[in-house]
Amino acid sequence: MKDSYGRIIDYMRISITDRCNLRCRYCMPEGISLVPMEEILTYEEITEICRAASELGIRKLKITGGEPLVRPGCPELIRMLKKIPGIEQVTMTTNGVALKQHLPCLLENGLDAVNISLDTLDPRIYQQITGRNQLHDVLEGIQQAVRAGLPTKLNTVLQTDVNIGEWLEMAKLTALLPVDVRFIEMMPIGYGKNYRSVSNQELLLRLKSIYPELEKDERVHGNGPAVYYRIPQAKGSVGFISPLHGKFCENCSRLRLTSQGKLKPCLCFEEEVDLMEVLRENKDAAANKGQGNHRSISRKELLQQRILRAVSQKPREHHFESAGQITECKQMVQIGG
Ligand code: SAM
Ligand code: SF4
Repeated sequence: MKDSYGRIIDYMRISITDRCNLRCRYCMPEGISLVPMEEILTYEEITEICRAASELGIRKLKITGGEPLVRPGCPELIRMLKKIPGIEQVTMTTNGVALKQHLPCLLENGLDAVNISLDTLDPRIYQQITGRNQLHDVLEGIQQAVRAGLPTKLNTVLQTDVNIGEWLEMAKLTALLPVDVRFIEMMPIGYGKNYRSVSNQELLLRLKSIYPELEKDERVHGNGPAVYYRIPQAKGSVGFISPLHGKFCENCSRLRLTSQGKLKPCLCFEEEVDLMEVLRENKDAAANKGQGNHRSISRKELLQQRILRAVSQKPREHHFESAGQITECKQMVQIGG
């Protein structure tokens, strides 16, 4: 699929839950209200959407949340998605808390790679950011993923008043482990609006001053907009995802599906296209009229029409730099990052 600006759209992020076992202060603080489970897409519905999307050219899927591993049966969803013709890659982003226990099943079901969110290596700061004391579980999850040979990236959001002091230590993890460490600028979405973003431009200058022989790493590392550099002799690369200080919209290739079945053309704006409506309303129609087969074909077409509509609504670029133009009111935990 191509959007109105000629960009190829072949990547869909799928949020499978708005629940989480952490309470990262910029994403999902305590007390947020949760969507009733019956309003969340079933795994069968997600698979149906992905099948329709793959026929239109979606090739890569990322499972996200909330925390995807808190939803029972998540590894089974990976298996279902991997079977869809045309889908080349199914990956996941997780906070890593429950990774260790699910890893064997995820590997068996064909997970291609994992992104693990880790903002700090200090248990006290981890508790301050996430509201929970689970750093040891995350570190074990990372070690096991690496040991199993699963391509692994760490995602780090820096905050000026909390974990900025650890940026170099985080970057140096690439020397110890074969993982990429990516610094993601805090986006002014949901609670993220309450925190100042650390500039990746400044971070990169500091990294270059410490490692003058820092090399740009031009290899493709994933589906995203990260720019990568390699500390000499390191096993992994340091990535910078800079929505604020390095707009990457011209290379945008993605759609986002929320757990409630809404397709989002862009993270910055509230516009969404309702796929749940197609799935649930037509289901009723099929049950009432007893036209299962005929209905299921037209339902795929209806889904595809709406997927194409979301693609055609993709804006040229986001406007995170201008608070007045950001219309998205959801929290990041409800969108999936
Ligand atoms: N629970 C999973 C996790 O933490 O990886 C998946 C969902 S989480 C919303 C996905 C990513 O979004 C995480 O890496 C998180 O740090 C990031 N994130 C959340 N709020 C953000 C914000 N306001 N700006 C930038 N990144 C954010
Ligand atoms: Fe949960 Fe991930 Fe949000 Fe943290 S960033 S609260 S782990 S969804």
